[in-house]
Amino acid sequence: MSYFNSGLDKKCGGVDCVTLHERQHIKDALRHSTFDFCTTPSAKATEGYQIFMQQGIRRDSEISAYLIELECLRAKKAEPNTDCDCRDYLQGRIDRISSGFGGL
Ligand SMILES: [Zn+2]
Repeated sequence: MSYFNSGLDKKCGGVDCVTLHERQHIKDALRHSTFDFCTTPSAKATEGYQIFMQQGIRRDSEISAYLIELECLRAKKAEPNTDCDCRDYLQGRIDRISSGFGGL
């Protein structure tokens, strides 16, 4: 089963939370980068902003991104119209992320 393209992912809003996660990386990359997207030719060939992030920055960015994703998942789970399937699904995502960070 593909974790990110399951029906529940869409139905329960997991995709929205992953999008927020990725946006945080883009924000962090742009904030830390001295890289000029318009004048550096190799930039056009690469998709990865993360190539230009130093390791420490990338790690910090990962933590902020997961915190934002967690907040998003928790908010969705708390919505009154979230059904049981989605609650289970969202809790599974929350557990998975939390365990990666020693229980945030
Ligand atoms: Zn990430």
